Amino acid sequence: MSVKDQINNIVIVGGGSAGWMTAAMLAKQLESKVSITLIESDTIGTVGVGEATIPPIKVFNRMLGIDENDFLKHCNGSIKLGISFENWPQKNHQYFHPFGRFAVDFDYIPFSYFWNKHRATGTDSNKNRPLQDYASAWHLAKNDKFSLPAKDAKSLFSGFDYAYHFDAGLYAKYLKGYSQKRGVKRQEGKVTQVDTNANNGFISSVTLASGQKITGDFFIDCSGISALLIDKTLGIEFIDWSKHLLCNQAIAVQTSHVKAINPYTRSIAKRSGWQWRIPLQTRMGNGSVHCSDFIDEQSAMDELMADVDGKLLTEPRVINFNVGRREKFWHKNCVAIGLSSGFLEPLESTSLHLIQRAIMRLVYLFPNKQCDEINTKLYNQQTIEEYEHIRDFIILHYKATKRDDSEFWKYCQHMPIPDSLQNQIELFSTHGHLDINAKDLFKQDNWLAVLTGQNILPKSVAPIMAYKQQIDLPRTMNSFYDMMEKTVKNLPNHEDYLKKNCLFQFDKM
Ligand SMILES: Cc1cc2nc3c(=O)[nH]c(=O)nc-3n(C[C@H](O)[C@H](O)[C@H](O)COP(=O)(O)OP(=O)(O)OC[C@H]3O[C@@H](n4cnc5c(N)ncnc54)[C@H](O)[C@@H]3O)c2cc1C
Repeated sequence: MSVKDQINNIVIVGGGSAGWMTAAMLAKQLESKVSITLIESDTIGTVGVGEATIPPIKVFNRMLGIDENDFLKHCNGSIKLGISFENWPQKNHQYFHPFGRFAVDFDYIPFSYFWNKHRATGTDSNKNRPLQDYASAWHLAKNDKFSLPAKDAKSLFSGFDYAYHFDAGLYAKYLKGYSQKRGVKRQEGKVTQVDTNANNGFISSVTLASGQKITGDFFIDCSGISALLIDKTLGIEFIDWSKHLLCNQAIAVQTSHVKAINPYTRSIAKRSGWQWRIPLQTRMGNGSVHCSDFIDEQSAMDELMADVDGKLLTEPRVINFNVGRREKFWHKNCVAIGLSSGFLEPLESTSLHLIQRAIMRLVYLFPNKQCDEINTKLYNQQTIEEYEHIRDFIILHYKATKRDDSEFWKYCQHMPIPDSLQNQIELFSTHGHLDINAKDLFKQDNWLAVLTGQNILPKSVAPIMAYKQQIDLPRTMNSFYDMMEKTVKNLPNHEDYLKKNCLFQFDKM
């Protein structure tokens, strides 16, 4: 590639989590050799939610060279070991989606096959233990404990994983500092005009309300739901998934803590949606996610406010959203990252992850000025697969309900679902097998947690188990459980862990 083909000048429109995560990673990966300008508007602000994450965020921070404790200290961060789903398959029911694996696989056969055989054929009193009882993340979570995974691969506590809860605004601020140190220029102002090149349709410049024109070789649309470049300028359509994922409104409010800071997110199913509780070090994030066709805003607000603890720290804020994705994410010389590219509701905390994946995909497929179509096509195809995979996993939570106490849940039980999800449910229901691809975000253990948690169980034992007679199942299963119970007693409390390693230091920002 000749030097004149190289991208020298990148413009990022938007300074929410998407904008600053992108700026930070590009500054690092391009080794500050490319001019990067990020435009953000204080008057427009950011969406201001996005507090729960999944384990791969650790990899993103590590790639940036960020120290975990420093990041948690500055972003009001706490630990997340998984999600407690309450009242989902039915009222007064709880299950946990733990991060990491269930116990250990034997001889390349998934642990769940053994668990299922014990459940189906055992005669001992422990055969009805749910699968989550064999996840060390669950043992830690239910006791409000945390310490880093054991380094000894033989320990049952080496197999759990964790992510974070944090203040997304502070994370953006943290990454802004990181980016600016590496040469990213921040430009305050509102973009009011976007110009394209008449010959090839590429974006050539954006103009601010002040009249200042900013040119670039490559543009990244991180403008949130306004999708200023990808939609308003390039006209890429939004594919709506509200037929399968009904929720379209959220109400967010922050309160003070009254109880222990749980190392997990709570997702509590309500009449027409669900409620989140996300504990940060100094406050609780609460919110309702619901479908406005089934509940009006005031009733949703009343329901939420009746179910928060502690003092109100903010006024409740209503956020309307559409669930779906762009038809394309990269078009011409523009990539959409963050809410401008699409949105899947926050049930499994996947949005920041989609941002992270988009950024890394852009890094691997980083173009020259021509932005060859073969490159953009691959980027788009991989992103579509990722979106659809996560979409299916989220739909499963709604579809697998047995609740019939409201019109919303009745609809969910009977709604059409994508063929890909239908196949997965049927496959699992038969012998407990699953169709997992190497690139999938949600792996065997994630699907197992939600399927078995929602009471979808295999009708029969996996046939391969007929050849695995040598293991004394009741004894083995009991020893896993007892060992986890015993080990967890000696581990530190989550709050003590935070105090010792990464106490929030707002004044030191
Ligand atoms: C209810 C809800 C809960 C969520 N919870 C989670 C969660 O738990 N975990 C998770 O991973 N994700 C969650 N998300 C998603 C997450 O909040 C977003 O994916 C993430 O914050 C990225 O947002 P963004 O940067 O794309 O957009 P925004 O934060 O909206 O930022 C857009 C930026 O563009 C700028 N901008 C817009 N127009 C212009 C213009 N004309 N000129 C200049 N600048 C402009 C704005 O000023 C702002 O800086 C949640 C989302 C919602 C709606």
